[in-house]
Amino acid sequence: MSEQNFAGKVAAVTGGASGIGAACCRLLAARGARVAVADLDLARAEAVAREVGGIAFALDVSTKAANDAAAAAVEAQLGPVDILVTSAGVIQRPLRAEELPERDVENVVRIDQIGTWNSAVAFGRRMAVRGSGAVVTIASIAGIRSMPLHAYSPAKAAVIEMTRCLAAEWGRSGVRVNAVSPGFTRTPALQEAIDRGERVVSLLEGGSALGRMVTPEDIAEAVCFLCSDAACAITGINLPVDAGWLVAGSWAT
Ligand code: NAD
Repeated sequence: MSEQNFAGKVAAVTGGASGIGAACCRLLAARGARVAVADLDLARAEAVAREVGGIAFALDVSTKAANDAAAAAVEAQLGPVDILVTSAGVIQRPLRAEELPERDVENVVRIDQIGTWNSAVAFGRRMAVRGSGAVVTIASIAGIRSMPLHAYSPAKAAVIEMTRCLAAEWGRSGVRVNAVSPGFTRTPALQEAIDRGERVVSLLEGGSALGRMVTPEDIAEAVCFLCSDAACAITGINLPVDAGWLVAGSWAT
């Protein structure tokens, strides 16, 4: 059996209706997993679920009770969840600190930080009781290198640290928890910034060691690796998938 054969596994993907989450749904399903697509946008989640032969759930990750209900519902419909990918998130406009509205800060922290924690705990606690599972949180290189993203960068740094905390807590229960930190990835979220004319493409594409942006499929490959048996001794890490932007790029150039 291939190490990346997920036949018989159940995977749940938050933010699965778009971008990185949708790419994870497609790759996990292509490798045999039965996939639950959970997203705020139910119509788009249903479209991805139809495409991958999975099921769709409406989920607002910022609410703890909604995550607990989703974890129970996925288990009731597909069986115990083996894999969780937390890709639900929002991206912040680059603004000077003094220009950033408090409501924007609250929104980013509520969805990207608290939402990720809510999902990880709701699904991961069930894995820990069962004694096996893999959780991959989608963080960001913005959580590693400071950028003028005064809400988003700290929220993603918190996701990286919470990944380590959960990995330490659940390791003896057979649950691995790792983060993937995408570089600048061509998804609808980033496309909006490009369409607004923000100085992203030259800074991001030109600044990477490999001279390109990252695709959602690049991220999905890393996620599948971390969920697979090939990564059975890996927990608590944060894996940047950034075409080498962290080693070569700078926001300030
Ligand atoms: P995207 O906008 O294409 O997808 C995000 C999905 O999350 C959408 O389907 C949206 O409906 C969903 N969502 C938003 N708020 C939600 C909520 N409260 N509850 C449930 N679902 C919600 O964006 P993407 O680029 O694919 O981003 C996915 C993840 O990757 C995010 O966490 C983002 O911060 C992270 N990331 C993206 C990039 C990038 O360059 N695109 C870089 C680093 C990290």
